[in-house]
Amino acid sequence: MEDLYKVKILVINAGSSSLKYQLISMMNEEVLAKGIVERIGIDGSKLKHKPTGKDQIVTERPISSHTEAIKIVLDALVDKENGVISSMDDIAAVGHRVVHGGEKFSGSVLIDDEVMEALRENIELAPLHNPANIMGIEACKENMPDKKQVGVFDTAFHQTMPEWAYLYGIPYRYYREYKVRRYGFHGTSHKYISQKVAKVMGKKPEELRTIVCHLGNGGSVSAVKYGKSIDTSMGLTPLEGVIMGTRCGDIDPSIIEYIMQKDNIDISAAMNILNKESGLLGVSEISSDMRDIESAMLSGDKMALTTYRLFCYRVKKYIGAYAAAMGGVDAVVFTAGIGENNPTMRADILDDMEYMGLKIDRKTNDSKADLVQISTNDSKVAAYSIATNEELMIARDTLELVS
Ligand code: ADP
Repeated sequence: MEDLYKVKILVINAGSSSLKYQLISMMNEEVLAKGIVERIGIDGSKLKHKPTGKDQIVTERPISSHTEAIKIVLDALVDKENGVISSMDDIAAVGHRVVHGGEKFSGSVLIDDEVMEALRENIELAPLHNPANIMGIEACKENMPDKKQVGVFDTAFHQTMPEWAYLYGIPYRYYREYKVRRYGFHGTSHKYISQKVAKVMGKKPEELRTIVCHLGNGGSVSAVKYGKSIDTSMGLTPLEGVIMGTRCGDIDPSIIEYIMQKDNIDISAAMNILNKESGLLGVSEISSDMRDIESAMLSGDKMALTTYRLFCYRVKKYIGAYAAAMGGVDAVVFTAGIGENNPTMRADILDDMEYMGLKIDRKTNDSKADLVQISTNDSKVAAYSIATNEELMIARDTLELVS
């Protein structure tokens, strides 16, 4: 066991044309190297490899498949000059981010043939993501047949939701026959943050009711009651919930029929609008990036201000709803790109929450540090900004399963 903590875990997050990786030393949970293979199977493919403490190395060359991408990553990791390990033996196991685990997986698993079959079955629930995750796993199996592979699911942490939180108000047979329900995503981040805030507050996760606001390009809020996710804003797919970079978040489903008729478009065009042309981008008509919205707002653009307010308002509503769902709240935590780096947004979301015992400390809030308490010391509800670390969570789960 002690020896295992000296080993390294390779964490893989495979997309359809990209593959992100981190090699993590488990003794001190330190990242030894990380990087990304971009444009797999497309012109201009490259590897960006960053050994910790050294400059990033960019290698441009044709990379036709995920199998080739993994091979190049492994070569970079053991490279004499810029590598971080002397041989592949140093890698204990590989942890994979898998988007959709459906109802089958409520925790991470060692990948075997049966698991691969279940992942394939879930493709229809996540047609954009699961096939890429499967390609990543198969590529690792080809390059490292002797290494154990672990699957860590975005949906797993939310499998503790009660029926009344995960069912929709539609005919039950859609659940019975097709498993239409709320699954929720970003589970690895919600789990990491809810555990981390408990540690920071000197409590056990079982003692806290926490609301986690994971606000990045995609965003979701979750209610974690005594260590378990009891509700989350994303649904069957990541389209539901708060307003996101290009996703609409919660809407009246009748809007879909209405815009299809008005624009004379089919369902896939309508869904494309809701997924790729809505959210911050759609409302502001400026950008999907909150930084651009903010700078437009500061130069007096009215729609940028409205978009910003709409975003804050929707998150605020979820915080109120989840406080009610949990019968109170002990901690509210912001994380991911916007959550960690946008103090103004945090202040506007948490403004006027004294009624529920939450007082923001505007001074400490004005920080982009990895861990900041942003509530006053006399606030009954604590609030924090904490940097998420999904890769570390994947590495921890992987180590636990192979130990
Ligand atoms: P993803 O969900 O794709 O991982 P991120 O978590 O990086 O995305 O979040 C992207 C969002 O976070 C963008 O709207 C961007 O404006 C914001 N963001 C990311 N980094 C910063 C930063 N350093 N300062 C301010 N905003 C940031």
